[in-house]
Amino acid sequence: MDGKIIQANSNMCKTFGYSSAELHQLMFEQLVHPNERHLSSSKLAAIAAGTSTSYQAERILQCKDQTLLWCDISVFVQHDQHQKPDYIFIQCMDITKRKQAEKKLNRLAFHDPLTSLANRTLLLKFLDQAIHRYQRNHDHKFAVLFLDLDGFKLVNDSLGHLEGDNLLVAIAQRLQQETRGSDTLARFGGDEFCILLNDISGQDQAIELAKRINKALNLPFIIANEVINTTTSIGIVIASDKLAKAQDYLRDADSAMYHAKHQGRGRYAIFDASMHMQAKHQLRLRNELSRAFEQQQFVPFYQPIICIDTGQICGFESLVRWQHPERGLLSPLQFLSIVEEIHRIAEIDYYMLDLAIAQVVRWRKQFGLDELTISCNCSSEMLSSYKVIERINNLLTEYQLPAHCLNLELTESVLINDPETTLSILEQLQQLGVNIHLDDFGTGYSSLSYLHRFPIHNIKIDRSFVSRILDSNKDHAIVESIVLLANRLGITITAEGVESHQQYLILKQIGVTKTQGYYHGKPVDAQATFLLLEQASATMELD
Ligand code: C2E
Ligand code: CA
Ligand code: CA
Repeated sequence: MDGKIIQANSNMCKTFGYSSAELHQLMFEQLVHPNERHLSSSKLAAIAAGTSTSYQAERILQCKDQTLLWCDISVFVQHDQHQKPDYIFIQCMDITKRKQAEKKLNRLAFHDPLTSLANRTLLLKFLDQAIHRYQRNHDHKFAVLFLDLDGFKLVNDSLGHLEGDNLLVAIAQRLQQETRGSDTLARFGGDEFCILLNDISGQDQAIELAKRINKALNLPFIIANEVINTTTSIGIVIASDKLAKAQDYLRDADSAMYHAKHQGRGRYAIFDASMHMQAKHQLRLRNELSRAFEQQQFVPFYQPIICIDTGQICGFESLVRWQHPERGLLSPLQFLSIVEEIHRIAEIDYYMLDLAIAQVVRWRKQFGLDELTISCNCSSEMLSSYKVIERINNLLTEYQLPAHCLNLELTESVLINDPETTLSILEQLQQLGVNIHLDDFGTGYSSLSYLHRFPIHNIKIDRSFVSRILDSNKDHAIVESIVLLANRLGITITAEGVESHQQYLILKQIGVTKTQGYYHGKPVDAQATFLLLEQASATMELD
């Protein structure tokens, strides 16, 4: 009854590594791990005082060699024949294996197996705690940072999943170096990470961390002997009374992250309410888009392209519009990025190509314009599959358009994405006889090496150069040298976004081949374009 061991069976001796003589020298408490001894003593004291006669508990016990064992112990007071407490009977069951399995399950339940970081469940749990702490006392500010790697899919696809995993582990390590022990760093699967920043003084601290992370991840990684450059977009939400649930914080951090991503790679953004509206709006558009496809709500607009030698219309560029049943006519800038995200942009490209070719063939006949061309925009989704060659060939045959009257406009980003396949596809398109036009030249990577490497027939100089050409000597010089280089390579030049007569005259003087812009005409629907052609042919007859 005083806690001294008076008898122990051989299993007890064997398990704890004592002889029975040694055990008989010990108090039971001495078998209990020091951290848990106070638990045992208070229970045993209650038994000695007669206020309790039994209990059951899980305790960590200690062997002679200091090994720890998790035990399930059952304790009963045994009475003598006069019903007086006689001695205490303690039964110990070694449950270490079960405890270890539980711990492992716990790790699995709350941690990401690849990086060993916390997972979404654990982060949500800690975030809930942080929210409650903040609600009780606003001094306990916190922030949530939502991270999404830029272009991880490309790395993963080109390196393979194993190396992609290695990159994620390396990124997790760098993130760990930037965060404090009191923060929670979690991986949400894929290339998404989340950080809960506890007890901050204000928003500056969150921004500072975001900057540090952007900088740390900007340094190249070496994976499988390849140098890999990644960046990450970060969305930040600061503790606020307006948000009540962990899910609200994650939603807003996610919106802010998207906002950062749209601004370019390796940026951060702090959430504000307009982003939420924007995110809602995007979601609605996304749902409405599927109906737009079903009901063919996309329509082609046409913008004239002028040949500088003759001053006459030599072709049109087709530009998609979404005739939205409630919102009216939407410009591609309002919806194409979403169409791209849902991987249906090639569908639009083909749809537009079909309508535009059919249309230009009609105009060629109606106005006797044998050299009238049509320029169509091509996404990288369209140009990443060999199917494009056969489909374009079929359209040319079906509508009887000479191949050299079809121009395919593509941007540099198309060339970067899988250059080998793209090169081989473009070469086959060139063999069909269609022309390849490099769009938005000067805005992207502007690597002049593309001009040698890919079969490019025409460069469209972006309107940002044209808009500055009157005021900036530098832009004037750039356009001039692009024209010189292109001339030498046998590439023609179209200047986009010509809005004034002065711009037109300078471009003519520099020697561009064609111009396009509001000065000549805004993009309009097929009917208005017909009228424009009618007008043009009337003045030509007068000439
Ligand atoms: P883009 O191919 O560079 O098309 C030229 C854009 O500049 C058009 O905008 C046109 O309306 C605008 N623009 C033309 N002249 C002027 C001017 O003088 N001043 C100004 N400020 N702007 C001018 P839009 O129609 O909104 O098209 C935007 C972009 O959407 C296009 O840029 C193109 O990248 C994309 N796009 C349009 N249609 C399609 C399509 O069918 N397929 C694909 N993949 N992309 C398309
Ligand atoms: Ca274009
Ligand atoms: Ca363009």
